[in-house]
Amino acid sequence: MALVNEHFLKLPDNYLFSDIAKKVNTFKVTHPKSNVISLGIGDVTRPLCPAVVEAMHKAVDEMANQKTFRGYGPEQGYDFLAEAIIKNDFAPRGVHLEASEIFISDGAKSDTGNIGDILRHDNSIGVTDPIYPVYIDSNVMCGRAGILEDGKWSNVVYMPCTSENNFVPAIPDQRIDIIYLCYPNNPTGTVISKEELKKWVHYALTNDTLIMYDAAYEAFIQDPAIPHSIYEIKGAKKVAIEFHSYSKTAGFTGVRCGYTVVPKELTAGRLTGERISLNRLWNRRQCTKFNGTSYISQRGAEAIYTPEGKMQIKETIQYYMNNARIMREGLKDVGLQVYGGENAPYIWVKTPNGKSSWKFFDEMLYEANVVCTPGVGFGPSGEGYIRLTAFGDTDNCKEAMRRLSKWLK
Ligand code: PLP
Repeated sequence: MALVNEHFLKLPDNYLFSDIAKKVNTFKVTHPKSNVISLGIGDVTRPLCPAVVEAMHKAVDEMANQKTFRGYGPEQGYDFLAEAIIKNDFAPRGVHLEASEIFISDGAKSDTGNIGDILRHDNSIGVTDPIYPVYIDSNVMCGRAGILEDGKWSNVVYMPCTSENNFVPAIPDQRIDIIYLCYPNNPTGTVISKEELKKWVHYALTNDTLIMYDAAYEAFIQDPAIPHSIYEIKGAKKVAIEFHSYSKTAGFTGVRCGYTVVPKELTAGRLTGERISLNRLWNRRQCTKFNGTSYISQRGAEAIYTPEGKMQIKETIQYYMNNARIMREGLKDVGLQVYGGENAPYIWVKTPNGKSSWKFFDEMLYEANVVCTPGVGFGPSGEGYIRLTAFGDTDNCKEAMRRLSKWLK
């Protein structure tokens, strides 16, 4: 008899987005004339920029020609993209990396989910709360998260991020083996300053902690003082793996491309005390379980680093950030407490009068015909908040703000 991985059975079904869809559908059926606006979408809506489209067309033409056809590429990705990444995403920020420290992937979800393959099953985990659910669920799948008790996993340290601590968690007073940080943050839309990030790197260096730094939204940072990469902090190469994604940066949610940085200096221990290079292990893992990102996607990603590509993706990001501004201002005008949305495409809103996330969701749907995402769906500390995203259409954002104003004023 083949036996299943029992750890999968510990995972509760994730009903967040299906529950939202069910509620919205019920509302639409009972209110057929209503026009519901969704500010809950986590997917981009603007098309690929012309520079990317042109590069991908050219790559398809190469694949169609006997002389330029390409089959399997390197599991780690093509050098042309790794070099463009180093030159554009890191060198201008004073971060020096080698191509062999960059692993091109099909996106940050796979890599943040799979990175645990190279780490022992009994490391302790620390996460900020609320959180992008992949970090915890992928650890549950290999037994690293322990058991679920009262909505929390026994081997996971939850670090609450709320308005009280300005959404930057306190440095833990205990040792944790692996800590996940995500800035700019999904779902709160908040960022971390260089000073705060320095404290985390110091903690990791002092406690021999490995930081998983998810920088999927770094392209949305507007404030020049905010770090785009943890490697801007001295010593971080010794303690951190960093994840990047072109999904939101360049509309690649359907194209699929991202990358992960595993510095050569980064090591983790064996019980014997011996130190092992994580770059070596991740390389080995990728060569066994991953066959590379499509050549066409990688040529598309390379094109965002050309002068035209840079300008074009910036325009799209500004489009979304303008939506975020409209929403921030609209929500503040009606007296709501609003966080994030200045350096990230997410806006985190405190529900008024201590209402639960779901109650406020229902009221917003029925009274204003606007859909949000209940904050509690991202973890216990998300209770009492809702998340709005800036990925929609500007006219819809304006109309949604008019409706919320009419409803709440
Ligand atoms: N990391 C965070 C914080 C995200 O919010 C997302 C997507 O929503 C991802 C990673 C996944 O990105 P990708 O599309 O590159 O897999």
